[in-house]
Amino acid sequence: MLALAGYPLGLEFRFLEPQPRSSAGQVGEQLQGEYHDRELLQRLAEGCDLVTFEFESVPDWAAAELAERCPVFPPPEALRVAQDRLLEKRLFSRLGVPAAPYAEVSEGTDLEAALRSVGLPARLKSRRLGYDGHGQARVGEVSELVPAFAAMGGVPSLLEREVHFERELSVLGVRARSGQMAFYPLVENRHQDSVLRLSLAPAPRLSPALQQEAEGLCAAIMQELGYVGVLAVELFQVGDRLLANEIAPRVHNSGHWTIDGAATSQFENHLRAGLGWELGETAARGSSLMVNLLGELPAVADVLAVPGSHLHLYGKEPRPGRKLGHVTVTGRDEAGLAAAAARLAHLPGVTVPAATLAG
Ligand code: AMP
Repeated sequence: MLALAGYPLGLEFRFLEPQPRSSAGQVGEQLQGEYHDRELLQRLAEGCDLVTFEFESVPDWAAAELAERCPVFPPPEALRVAQDRLLEKRLFSRLGVPAAPYAEVSEGTDLEAALRSVGLPARLKSRRLGYDGHGQARVGEVSELVPAFAAMGGVPSLLEREVHFERELSVLGVRARSGQMAFYPLVENRHQDSVLRLSLAPAPRLSPALQQEAEGLCAAIMQELGYVGVLAVELFQVGDRLLANEIAPRVHNSGHWTIDGAATSQFENHLRAGLGWELGETAARGSSLMVNLLGELPAVADVLAVPGSHLHLYGKEPRPGRKLGHVTVTGRDEAGLAAAAARLAHLPGVTVPAATLAG
């Protein structure tokens, strides 16, 4: 999607990607191999004006090594912080960004003290390699804590208080080399089994105060990290306040609606930022609904028959749970989006979590 946004701007792309027949390989030159392969990293950078990443588990040292040869954005430091929940929490507290209370669990002997300080229910989260609910367990009873820690392999973790949020939101900001910043309207995200199923953009019932709060914390994070590119901050809304859950230093699934539903897509703005160009406008064009296509694909004709729909297939082999594409419905009012969601909900690969239609 980055390449598709970049070709009209006259850019060319080369990708490093472990999977054969990848999405990226269908739209540009692919070097197939591992992100830690130094020879491939060298070949990737050769002749490139700049390097970016859109996968969070790229080794931070690989990004840092590349940065010695050519500009890498977002900064490798942002990747290092995002890969470690403890560094992320410390960043939030350094900047006064509200987040759920937590305690460090370096080893089993820390569990009791962590439980005392955090209370139950809680989430045990591994410090590293946690995304889409991986490396995370809900702890409702005292007796569940030790087995949960053991099941995660006893790796360094955090115990975090469970938040009774009203909804999950995300804010996408973009910062250019010049320091110029822009923000998309807050997005409401619905997950099932910790995987994003659906986004509504702008988030319904969005107050200017909430938008301002989100932009303020996103700006603070971007400034602190000397950030360049698109940054997503995942948030919980509790009453009229926001708690930061985690950051994603990359273009983000909750920003896919911007391709069809915003003045400038997150992908184009990410490239503009990295290239030192002026950022594009981030206003929404009406309201949008985005649903992910997971595991299996609907018939193209069935998607296109939904008024206002835009289909994006990633050219991937179907596999259970795999993100294979998404559909964005734009230009409808709330009733129109609810009608579209009801139609899409019947299609293979689409899950519309309960309560979506009722709002
Ligand atoms: P994460 O891997 O941190 O993004 O968590 C995945 C999902 O788990 C989030 O999108 C939330 O739905 C849920 N979750 C994570 N942390 C908490 C928490 N402290 N309280 C309640 N739900 C949480």
